[in-house]
Amino acid sequence: MKFIEIKNCYKVYQNGVTAIADLTLSISKGDFVFVIGHSGSGKSTLIKMLYREEKPTKGEVIVGGINISKLKNRNVYKLRRKLGIVFQDFKLLPKLTVYENVAFALEAMGLKSNEIRPKVLKALERVGLKEKVRSFPNQLSGGEQQRVCIARAIVNEPKLLICDEPTGNLDPETSKEIMKVIESINKEMGTTIIMATHDREIVNRMKKRVITIENGVLVSDDAKGRYVAHENV
Ligand code: ADP
Repeated sequence: MKFIEIKNCYKVYQNGVTAIADLTLSISKGDFVFVIGHSGSGKSTLIKMLYREEKPTKGEVIVGGINISKLKNRNVYKLRRKLGIVFQDFKLLPKLTVYENVAFALEAMGLKSNEIRPKVLKALERVGLKEKVRSFPNQLSGGEQQRVCIARAIVNEPKLLICDEPTGNLDPETSKEIMKVIESINKEMGTTIIMATHDREIVNRMKKRVITIENGVLVSDDAKGRYVAHENV
């Protein structure tokens, strides 16, 4: 069975905008997939449906055997625990240290501090930030802050890492480093990666599967794709 299956999915917002139209797609465990397209094409909506920030209006979204379309609100946390999410804006808690930011979700899950510690240190080591455990977010560069977010997203070793424009606020050199981190998570942990991006250079360099969306419609799906969307993306 596929790890992610989207079947004839539609998302129509309350204002009548159809953000996703008849989208069918499947993704295997361990895949690395870019989602590209113009601004407003539906990338974020697609990604939000994977972590149940939005519900499909019609059709099915299945992640790791969970049918998200049918998931009750009170059970959404079960899905969220199985995946990690990285956004463009870092969303770190400014008054907590790097360590505390990464430990936060595990504390909320009720893990004990002696269980939390090795997980947090391992995640920070993976992103190359072990020496910054006591720093606060405002003492870090943008690239370092994004690494903390990645550590926070993978601390519970999710099967799926969802990234929505993770390099959107970073310069090209820092973006490259962030992509190395994400690629190593895919290779070493076997984590499935879905990443929405505008970054043509990254997509062309990595030669991963590329899904292109235009006006909510899937227009191409290339196994070793290139960034082929129009100039004004
Ligand atoms: P992208 O991530 O590719 O920029 P989005 O998924 O954000 O695209 O948006 C797709 C379309 O849905 C756009 O026309 C956008 O204006 C619309 N849209 C997004 N979110 C909402 C919302 N919460 N309510 C109404 N329309 C929305």
